[in-house]
Amino acid sequence: MREAHCHLGLLGEALALPDIGSCTSLAECLDHVRAGAGQTTPGAWLRFKSARPAAWAEGRWPTIVELDRAAPHRPCVIMSFDHHMAVANSAAIRAAGLRAGEAVGPKGHVDSDSSGAATGVLHEHAAYRCWDAAPAPDVQTRRERVRRACRSLVELGFDEAHDLHTPEWLLEDLLHLEREGELELRRVDVYPNVVNLEEMFRRFGASAGERVRIAGGKLFADGTLNARTALTLHPYRTPESGSPHGVAMASPEECERAVKLCESLGLHVAVHAIGDGAVRMVLDAIERGSVRNGSGAAEGNRHRVEHCELIDERDVPRFAELGVVCSVQPCHLLTDIEVLRDQLPGRLDRVLPLRGLIDAGCRPGELLWFGSDAPVVRADPMDSVRAAVHRRREGMEESEALGWHQRISEQDCWAAFSKR
Ligand SMILES: [Zn+2]
Repeated sequence: MREAHCHLGLLGEALALPDIGSCTSLAECLDHVRAGAGQTTPGAWLRFKSARPAAWAEGRWPTIVELDRAAPHRPCVIMSFDHHMAVANSAAIRAAGLRAGEAVGPKGHVDSDSSGAATGVLHEHAAYRCWDAAPAPDVQTRRERVRRACRSLVELGFDEAHDLHTPEWLLEDLLHLEREGELELRRVDVYPNVVNLEEMFRRFGASAGERVRIAGGKLFADGTLNARTALTLHPYRTPESGSPHGVAMASPEECERAVKLCESLGLHVAVHAIGDGAVRMVLDAIERGSVRNGSGAAEGNRHRVEHCELIDERDVPRFAELGVVCSVQPCHLLTDIEVLRDQLPGRLDRVLPLRGLIDAGCRPGELLWFGSDAPVVRADPMDSVRAAVHRRREGMEESEALGWHQRISEQDCWAAFSKR
């Protein structure tokens, strides 16, 4: 079974972090912080992921005072489940070199109160900077985490995984694990960012392992639905200021160049495209830039579009026509139901049109691939199977399903997780 879209480096890190995703209250979250503060070596960073303060009984983040009290003398940062926000204590904000009220990167911001003091809340790039300020683990620890990430997939029944945005160190670690006989997956395909692709291919391409190989390059064509930055053909109901259709993270020319670069190395491009506008832009770029449209079936691996949460009716048949893989993670439907209903109410029939894709010739496993995007969500394949079959969360009525007519059979789902 193949996990067609995951992030092994981040998954290894996530598995090593305490999980507060199931907390039901702020009090419970602070208990985790206090417990962690009592365990780790003095001064070591305390990091937590997957916080959902909106779902907590108190409905709010901890204050900086509460966090300072729970974790005195050591940096502590808690990241939200969707990675758009974090809350940090004074030591973490200091260690990251952030100042109250400061703007960080294109969208980041360090929240401050009326007196100008930091509240602990960090938005976007300010959150990432604080998170990344924690010292990197030593090579030994890092490799052990990658090993455990691979093992966690094997335990779920996978024997092949595709890593979609692979840093150089991760490829090195995977090759090391393979050499040492510690790689439990039978096969790992990696996709470095197209910017680093040529250099990494030169360095590792010929000598890459038997089971670990560079399969292609990764490019981002748009953002995400929750941030309303996924590039859409129809406007969002309440867009982020100035971008009613979301944001293109790459130009059509950049997409086309990426296709050509990958083909020149004998590889394939994998482009992140969540909105229907981005999906169309990428299909256009492949159509223009590829000299092997519709061929390459024998290799069992072709250009691929990642996520495809919205696909316009006109573009559905183009995947099969061009021989492009539609690589989806239906499990995300379960958490995106509300934002889709809220922001794109007129386009709900275009959400993950799996039935339409199969009917148009995208055979599951061949041109329709399933994955999870772990650790953004857990890698359990059952989540995607349920989402693709029932089109709604457990406990919801059939009338609440999203794109009910696009549901597919359980058999087709398992085929999409298999290799053809
Ligand atoms: Zn991803």
